[in-house]
Amino acid sequence: MKPPVFEYHRPRTVPEALAVLAEVGHDGKVLAGGQSLVPLLNMRLAAPRHLVDVNWLAELDEVARDDGGVRVGALARHARVEHDRDAVEAVPLLGQAIADIAHTTVRNRGTVVGSLVHADPAAELPAVLVLLGGTMELASAGAGPRRVAAADFFLGPLESALRPGELATAAWFPAPPPGSGSAWVEVARRHGDYALCGAGALVELDQDLRVRSARAALISVGPVPVPVELTDAVGGQPHDAADWAAAGRLAAAAVDPEDDIHATAAYRRHLAGVLTARAARAAAAHAAARLGEGAG
Ligand SMILES: Cc1cc2nc3c(=O)[nH]c(=O)nc-3n(C[C@H](O)[C@H](O)[C@H](O)COP(=O)(O)OP(=O)(O)OC[C@H]3O[C@@H](n4cnc5c(N)ncnc54)[C@H](O)[C@@H]3O)c2cc1C
Repeated sequence: MKPPVFEYHRPRTVPEALAVLAEVGHDGKVLAGGQSLVPLLNMRLAAPRHLVDVNWLAELDEVARDDGGVRVGALARHARVEHDRDAVEAVPLLGQAIADIAHTTVRNRGTVVGSLVHADPAAELPAVLVLLGGTMELASAGAGPRRVAAADFFLGPLESALRPGELATAAWFPAPPPGSGSAWVEVARRHGDYALCGAGALVELDQDLRVRSARAALISVGPVPVPVELTDAVGGQPHDAADWAAAGRLAAAAVDPEDDIHATAAYRRHLAGVLTARAARAAAAHAAARLGEGAG
């Protein structure tokens, strides 16, 4: 099928883009990588009257590391972030999770910020932003810039806190504290498919390699990413002999998945437990290895 008729806008600067978005309001959609929006248009599941193509806004094409973390501009593609050494050194979870997004061709076009705004409950990056406690940077012609914490940004399936007329200009991913490690694991029916369930984990160890804190965030088991605090199950335990299965049970109890054509709710709940245990164990091993490198 072909998309419904729309008017195409190609602003050259961010202020120009904001002016167009303010003018078209509810009738407008930003076009970034097009990897989610174009299929929706072609299937006529979305019918905006105006498309505002932001691919010419060079000022949004940045991946910048500083002491606190990594700022990803709205035009940075998944592949660029995945292969940016500085970015994945500061925030390894970015590289770990992006590697599981779709296929290379999709990662070459799709943007990190577009994936966050799209707010698919099966997408990896919303969970990464929630797990790290990151922030979205939004701009509009009328109200100016504002920041929204990840915990407040994802409102429901394909629903974020972005308002009509707003442009998401960047996402901020804070670097985890020293002594931390991370991991991403997921199960999909075929390589590159959206996950039936996925889990990211962040584990911080103390100098004796005991677990100081552990938490996870899960996808495809609820309308938005599900953060789960795991420290109660494994806090104070040695990283290589902690009760990761107990951590998994916390996650399985925290999620509330539904049956659908891909999997039963019971199977997804089972996966939530198994994958959280696996991700948290791998994150602890990652933390221990990084502490070892630091000491060496
Ligand atoms: C075959 C296939 C498999 C895929 N598998 C996965 C997967 O496993 N995991 C995964 O996470 N994703 C997957 N995706 C989606 C992919 O990651 C998309 O790139 C991403 O979801 C959207 O990014 P985009 O830049 O393409 O956004 P677009 O498709 O251009 O836009 C998506 C939505 O976000 C809005 N938007 C985008 N950027 C902005 C902005 N800066 N400000 C305001 N609004 C904005 C658009 O208006 C639109 O509503 C897959 C896509 C395909 C085609």
